[in-house]
Amino acid sequence: MKECRYYQKLEGGAVACLLCPHHCHIADGKTGRCLSRRNDGGILLSEVYGKPCALAIDPIEKKPLYHFHPGTECLSLACTGCNFRCLNCQNHDISQVSPTDVPHYDLSPETLIALCQKHHCPGIAYTYTEPLTYLEYITDCARLAYEAGLWNILVTAGYVCQEPLADLLPYLDAANVDLKSFSDDIYMQVSGGHLQPVLDTIVAMREAGVWLEITNLLIPDINDDMDMIRQMCRWLKENNLANAPLHFSRFFPRYKMQEIQPTPLYTLKEAKRIAEEEGIVHVYLGNV
Ligand code: SF4
Repeated sequence: MKECRYYQKLEGGAVACLLCPHHCHIADGKTGRCLSRRNDGGILLSEVYGKPCALAIDPIEKKPLYHFHPGTECLSLACTGCNFRCLNCQNHDISQVSPTDVPHYDLSPETLIALCQKHHCPGIAYTYTEPLTYLEYITDCARLAYEAGLWNILVTAGYVCQEPLADLLPYLDAANVDLKSFSDDIYMQVSGGHLQPVLDTIVAMREAGVWLEITNLLIPDINDDMDMIRQMCRWLKENNLANAPLHFSRFFPRYKMQEIQPTPLYTLKEAKRIAEEEGIVHVYLGNV
């Protein structure tokens, strides 16, 4: 547990969290939407600082990152919490719960680096849930990892404010950003957030020289409109991301989206055809 860096005190003991665009106003004793930041007597605490609930060694391709040191492995880490409410969340058992609902490790940034070195992993991936909701922890880890010559990899939905993100960017080597659709309405309907901050995150990462790959999960009749996919690809190209690998991923029924059938293969192939037609150089199909 550690005091958060990004918040403001309000009248009456409440606080405003300034980490992500939700800007939660949190009364004393309550937590924000991500469930991991709690107002304790006017002090906003990150309850998951140093307390990952998941640790694993993964092939880097699993993130997915296909063009960043392929064939290597990374130490993957997650704490509970997410600032989205995706109806199709694959990791809702750790992303949509309070820190006290699941067991956790006690792992200081220093111990994490030692663990990484012990297992000969060249990098750390902050992944599985939404690492940006525990930015204080990952920034402290990332700074030490950077000094130790280890890579820092972020797997994220990209919903964060620019100022806090800027504190992490100098230490970040690669990221896979989940661009869930190219429609603000669909973002709100499926995830409970907005599109523009995610686009801003992608641009900020590109400008900072972070190696970027993009994932777009295609959900039948929700975000598989080919005109919208074309617009998304055009935006990527206009923003100098034609060479960023684009992963179209297949949907399977999950969490609160059990009634929707898996994405047909022809939808994925058509999305790939359109992306390539629009000039995206590396297009992959995932979960197929
Ligand atoms: S990081 Fe969490 S507490 Fe802070 S504004 Fe976002 S959802 Fe709210």
